[in-house]
Amino acid sequence: MQFDYDLFVIGAGSGGVRAARVSAGMGAKVAIAEESRYGGTCVIRGCVPKKLMVYASQYSEMIEDARGYGWTVGEPSFDWAALKTARDAEIDRLEGIYGRILDGSGVTRYPHHARLLDGHTVELGDGTRVSAKTILIATGGRPALPSFEGLQHVIVSDDIFDLESQPKSILCIGGGYISLEFACVFHGLGTAVTVSNRSTVLRGYDGDVRDHLVEAMTAKGIDLRMGVNPVEIVEKDGMKHVTYDDGSVVVVETVLAATGRKPYVDGLGLENAGITVDAGGAIVVDEFSCTNVPSVYAVGDVTDRVQLTPVAIREGMAFAETVFNDNPTSPDHELIATAVFTQPEIGTIGLTEEQARQEHEVVIYRTTFRPMINVLAGRDEKTMMKIVVDRPSDRVLGVHIVGHHSGEMIQCAAIAVKMRATKADFDRTMAVHPTSAEELVTMRDPVSDHT
Ligand code: NDP
Repeated sequence: MQFDYDLFVIGAGSGGVRAARVSAGMGAKVAIAEESRYGGTCVIRGCVPKKLMVYASQYSEMIEDARGYGWTVGEPSFDWAALKTARDAEIDRLEGIYGRILDGSGVTRYPHHARLLDGHTVELGDGTRVSAKTILIATGGRPALPSFEGLQHVIVSDDIFDLESQPKSILCIGGGYISLEFACVFHGLGTAVTVSNRSTVLRGYDGDVRDHLVEAMTAKGIDLRMGVNPVEIVEKDGMKHVTYDDGSVVVVETVLAATGRKPYVDGLGLENAGITVDAGGAIVVDEFSCTNVPSVYAVGDVTDRVQLTPVAIREGMAFAETVFNDNPTSPDHELIATAVFTQPEIGTIGLTEEQARQEHEVVIYRTTFRPMINVLAGRDEKTMMKIVVDRPSDRVLGVHIVGHHSGEMIQCAAIAVKMRATKADFDRTMAVHPTSAEELVTMRDPVSDHT
């Protein structure tokens, strides 16, 4: 059978763009459809603009701390509109690069919503029908909202980037990455911040990491309310009055709901092709990202394996290798390092102490110290590092860091952990002095109550 394309990709985010251009580079005739902007969640309304806001928000403490280093600093002020303009321009620039990469790779772009008609055919928003030997779904995810009265008064993370002015006060609902990162961003920019969650912060993270973060965020003046659920939001005089199930009320200008993300499969026509989804709506795939329909694959957040950009990219590359390079490749989801861009930042890889204890006899190494940069600044905030080791083999099972640049540090530590380094390997590595990272190779004494 003759097809219009070898590959048709739906969704030009991290996974889709990478799969499209790598497949084209392998000689495939490729097209891609995108109903919104090129770059997807990460570039347009996620990781990248968020990180720019993290940088912006860190200046308030840096300006304060500069005085301890002899600088005379005038009264600082922050201009939300100026940041928004600069940030938006950078996102436009990156979006342009994504488009040009696709064009340069010979990928045909369709700026439309695409819907499956069957396992080889898509219908575009303008009614055009296109056929392909293989279809790759990479439509990503969308914010998932909780349910309570007055939900129309909340914004989601996408909306933050459209806010024309800085809220004076904000409530972030949720204890995950998005809620906590934006809580710290807004605090740094001068907004009064409250965070609430039904359980605790960063469920599934190492207990010491969570405790350290809660302590640090609380010390900065962020109001953390855990173990409560909002039941109703009403708007009065331009303010949101949020009532909780314990009877407490929080009054703020803006409410952000950051309670997870769900696969974006709306209007995709999955039923036309008979594609199986799980209870949460995620497309079910095998280890090669193939759905139950052999001509249709899916990568990234729409498959809800691990909701992270580098994972989607790896899945996209493994897909191209499998389908267009005759080299079946399964993306490796073991030992994924991540950073949470809270302030202080978190970097983590491998097992938490709690996870490790379930299957291993462990030795725990932990240090908490005031980093050198904070001393003259007069800032009390501490860094925490923790290494989880399997006692019989001495293998490092997990590394967890909370503090300055921990995202940068964990990337390097991740190589060692992935290579199955032992604690002895860490110990015989010469320290880089004076740094915070050197503590990772100088922790000699296990935590006595944890051995
Ligand atoms: P997370 O899954 O990280 O956290 C969701 C939070 O919302 C949890 O605290 C959860 O509570 C709470 N929650 C979930 N459902 C409900 C509900 N129905 N009612 C009330 N509370 C609820 O999701 P995020 O939205 O923060 O982020 C989505 C994903 O995006 C992350 O999983 C992450 O993979 C990715 N991301 C990664 C970043 C990074 O790498 N730095 C940055 C931002 C996002 P509980 O714990 O009790 O379930």
